[in-house]
Amino acid sequence: MNTSTNASTNVIETHNLTKIYGSKYIALNGADLTVPQGSVFGLVGPNGAGKTTTIRLLLGLHNPTAGRALLFGEPMTPNAVHLRRRIGFLPTNPRFPGDMTPITYLDFVGQLSGLPAEVRKPRLAALLRAVGLLSASSQKVKSFSTGMTTRLGIAASLINDPELLIWDEPTAGLDPEGRKYTIDLIQELGQTKTILVSSHNLGDIKLVCDHIGILSEGKLIFNGPLREMTRFTRSSAIELTLDGDLDALCTRLDESPPPVRWTRERNALRLHFEDETRIAAGLAAVLGMMVDSGTTLLAINSLHDEMVDAFIRLLEEERGHGFSRILRAAQTGDGVPGAVDERPPHDG
Ligand code: ATP
Repeated sequence: MNTSTNASTNVIETHNLTKIYGSKYIALNGADLTVPQGSVFGLVGPNGAGKTTTIRLLLGLHNPTAGRALLFGEPMTPNAVHLRRRIGFLPTNPRFPGDMTPITYLDFVGQLSGLPAEVRKPRLAALLRAVGLLSASSQKVKSFSTGMTTRLGIAASLINDPELLIWDEPTAGLDPEGRKYTIDLIQELGQTKTILVSSHNLGDIKLVCDHIGILSEGKLIFNGPLREMTRFTRSSAIELTLDGDLDALCTRLDESPPPVRWTRERNALRLHFEDETRIAAGLAAVLGMMVDSGTTLLAINSLHDEMVDAFIRLLEEERGHGFSRILRAAQTGDGVPGAVDERPPHDG
């Protein structure tokens, strides 16, 4: 078994990965996903976009209707246990046997992963400490809060010290403290592991991920480095908080309009840029008029979240192309191979 991957390897690669449920519902449509080794990859999309379906296909828990997923360069299949052993999986809202304690549960998971007792015992103690569950280690899991349950799921995903972590919505249902804890942990683990984390919360993704995949209605509409997302930025606005005679400044701006649309908000001026390449010119013109009219700059703030803008734009463009995920029976014919009609069993 090849247990190493070189620097240029994609830990995850999918080709035309497709999942159709019930012969007619496209949950994932021809996705070409690449997750480079060492990256923290955010799989983002609104509810129902296909994130969990993608993850289940990557783990070999579903058969694809078409296409394939390569993990560590090898095809993932339901029988590829050796590949799954290299992955730590955290499902959305994990649930555990209520009568188990964190110790008995982690020990059980460690045994399933084939870890010998002398490795298992010290590791589970270290993990319980790392996720802050040491004091609750003998408590029954059924008494756990959502945050504690997620932390146990995190510990379980780390028990076999995997090279790749796949965490499905790890911040779902967590309070701000739990969310911050999880985000900090992803940041820390990302130093040494490849991580794929799904979320519908762009803010979380932005904090921790260096690569991103955006799913919309089952289609992967963006896959690449996070910084490339800014290419799609539609507009941005800058707010200048000013001191001095704003009326005089506005009169000047009316008389000789600068190359930027502007609005006034009490003691602030908002500059609305349709094209980010024109920010410097617009700003320079307005700053020049400010000096001439005797106003001074107290603060400057960017108003738009570029990521959110880019995300919305991608979604709008995608919808503009008229993508529909419902296949008509006439188009598909009967019996699509690999399709699963029922909802999957519970993730945990
Ligand atoms: P969420 O953020 O709400 O968990 P998601 O992005 O993870 O959503 P999926 O759970 O992958 O999305 O679901 C994608 C679509 O496929 C949804 O509309 C869902 O209802 C449908 N779906 C998922 N699993 C099945 C199944 N086993 N049978 C039929 N439809 C399914």
